Amino acid sequence: MNETKGMNETTKTYVVGVDLGGTKIEACLLDSDRNCLDRYRVFSEAYRGVEHVLENIEKVIRTVAKGRSFKAVGMGTPATYLKDEDRLYGAPHTPVYEERGFISRLRDRLSVPLLVENDANCLALAEFFAGCEGKYTHIMAVILGTGMGSGLILNNMLYRGKRGAAGEIGHTSIDINGRLCECSRRGCAEAYLSGPSLSRRFFDLSGKKLNVRETFQLFQDGDSQAEDFFVESCRIMGEVFANVINTLDLQAVILGGGVSNLSVWYEKVPAFIEKSLFGIPRGSFPLLKAKMGDSAGVFGAAYLALRELGFMTF
Ligand SMILES: [Zn+2]
Repeated sequence: MNETKGMNETTKTYVVGVDLGGTKIEACLLDSDRNCLDRYRVFSEAYRGVEHVLENIEKVIRTVAKGRSFKAVGMGTPATYLKDEDRLYGAPHTPVYEERGFISRLRDRLSVPLLVENDANCLALAEFFAGCEGKYTHIMAVILGTGMGSGLILNNMLYRGKRGAAGEIGHTSIDINGRLCECSRRGCAEAYLSGPSLSRRFFDLSGKKLNVRETFQLFQDGDSQAEDFFVESCRIMGEVFANVINTLDLQAVILGGGVSNLSVWYEKVPAFIEKSLFGIPRGSFPLLKAKMGDSAGVFGAAYLALRELGFMTF
C-alpha cells in the first residue's frame, strides 16, 4: 500500500500559474487536483527592462517549483497576447510587456508549454471554479480597480472572442457625450467606475479630494452628497452590467478587484440591474463578491496549464 502511495506522489503532475502584474509577479504551484502546494511573489521591476522582467518571471517559477518538475506554465497578463505578432497589447502602464518577442523569449527559457491569457479571463476562470461550477453556466467576472475589465464564461467555456480580446466592458460607452476616458472615447464605463474615476467624479461633485475608501466612509456617515454619489454610481454600474446581461443572457455577475469591497454595490446594484433587464422573467439577479481575493490571478493562470495537459475543460 505504502509503496503504491509513494508511486503516486512521485508521478503527480505539477503546473505553475503566474500572475504578471504591473508591480508584482506572483506564482503558485498546483497539482493536477488543483491543490496549491506553494506560492511566491516578487516585484516585477518593469522599469529595469525586458531582460530583467524575464529573469524575475523565471526566478519566481523556479522558486515556487522547489525542484519539482512542472509540465506546463499558465500566465495571466494585464494585456491581450496576439500569437501571430508575438506581442502583448493593452498594457500602456508597463510598455516593456508590449515589446515584440517578450512572450517567446520567456517560452524559450522554460522548455515547457506556456499559455498566456488576459488577467480578467484568469479571474473569471478562478471564480467560476471556486463557486459557480455546476450552479451557473453563463457568468461574467468583472475586475474593478485602477481600471475595469471582465472575463466571460459562456456555456461553461471561457469566451475569448476571435483573438482573445473579448470582455473589455470598461471600454463600452454608456453616454456618447459623457466623460472622457483614458482610451480617448467618451462615456466609457471605466471613466465612471474605476477607483481613480470614482475619486475624480466625487471631486467634481463636492470639491473634496478623497480616495474611494474615504468617500465610502462619508457615505456610511450619512453625508448626503456621498449618498447621492453612490446611488448614481450604482445606477451606472447596473446599466453597464444590464447591457451585457441583456446581450448574453447571463445568470450571474461576479465582482472582484480593489474597488469591489464596498458593500453598497451588493446592496443597491442588483435592483438597478433588474429594472433594466429586458424580455424573459429572471427574478432577482445575483451580483456576487469574488471569493478568491488576490489569489484569483495565479489560480486561473494555473488552470490554463491544467487544461493544456487535459486535466480541466473550459
Ligand atoms: Zn475607454
